[in-house]
Amino acid sequence: MTGRAVGAERLRRLPPYLFAQIEQKIAAKKAAGVDVISLGIGDPDTPTPGFVVETLREQVLRPDTHQYPSNRGRESFRDAIAGFYANRFGVSLDPGTQIIPAMGAKEAVANVNLAFLDPGDVALASDPGYPVYTTGPLLAGAEPVPMPLLPELGFQPDLTAIPADVAARARVMFLNYPNNPTGGVIEDDFFERAIAFARANDIIIVHDNAYSEITYDGYRAPSFLETPGAMDVGIEIFSLSKTYNMTGWRAGAVVGNADLVAAYWQLKTNIDSGMFEALQEAAAAALRSDQSSVAEMCAIYQRRRDVLVGALQRIGLRVDPPKGAIYVWARVPDGETSASFTEKVLEEAAVVISPGAAYGPSGEGFVRMSLTVPDDRLNEAADRIAKLVG
Ligand SMILES: *Cc1c(COP(=O)(O)O)cnc(C)c1O
Repeated sequence: MTGRAVGAERLRRLPPYLFAQIEQKIAAKKAAGVDVISLGIGDPDTPTPGFVVETLREQVLRPDTHQYPSNRGRESFRDAIAGFYANRFGVSLDPGTQIIPAMGAKEAVANVNLAFLDPGDVALASDPGYPVYTTGPLLAGAEPVPMPLLPELGFQPDLTAIPADVAARARVMFLNYPNNPTGGVIEDDFFERAIAFARANDIIIVHDNAYSEITYDGYRAPSFLETPGAMDVGIEIFSLSKTYNMTGWRAGAVVGNADLVAAYWQLKTNIDSGMFEALQEAAAAALRSDQSSVAEMCAIYQRRRDVLVGALQRIGLRVDPPKGAIYVWARVPDGETSASFTEKVLEEAAVVISPGAAYGPSGEGFVRMSLTVPDDRLNEAADRIAKLVG
């Protein structure tokens, strides 16, 4: 090899990994014997429901699930997604043309960039947001443009603030409600306004629906596809990861506009060979179930949310209890930055939290704390943080 860098140019476009420094500090603390509690990662701590595991066990013993899957997905999987969308959201999906299995939402978010974007196109990305909304466009040679999620607008972007030249170059808009990391939810006509904006500017809306089932205080989240006109301009990416504690299983689906679903499918047939069919059957069982496992999980998260929010409010942090998703998003105390407060909480309380700026420039001034740790650890973390500023 000559002096050429090993990675392709597209890899060099990617931003540096922001957690590298904090990961070193955590490792050093653990090596020194400190009892570190991590609220840094959103990965459910309670197990996948037993009936889902049992379905996988049965299916994995059947040789007819072992061959290359069809990358359109098994009929039973697509029917289960269609049934779920009909029952839960009143959304009618044609299993033949409007549903493709995804190996997790992350795969789908990354690949829709390659399916929809040309070099020079703009992708409008929620800021703060799931990091792949910005790295995906970069890998496609496109330009991610952040749309600040404004606290005063309920963590929705101000569509009227998007400059006309940016809107003209934009091809894709990434939205996500209930939102990671802010906990923002849709309780107004935002989806209607987004659809009007997408129509006026010929933009594809990609709604990342990782959290519609994880909500609190009686709030029920809509599907983007429920909104009149949504099916003309967009797709939704549904994930089983957080819904059924299946993060390691890699199961989701891309649903919505048939032409857009077909473009995603065409790309995928050239990249992977579909989802293991035994897994498709287990995922279908989860979707067809009475959803009581989800209700139980929401009750656990809601209880933890109240413990953590209470502790943060006692030390004077400005934080609202979120109505959805699995995170508490709090303003840092005056005089601190995202990074300095994260470091202080690690150094003085041995609790790992995430700096808001890691999710985009508009996350500065906030920190994210995940509710996916067992109750006793969550309570201990809340106690330690409550003693911080006292
Ligand atoms: C967790 C998460 C994902 C990833 O979901 P997978 O299906 O596990 O890939 C996608 N989007 C958001 C907003 C998430 O929080």
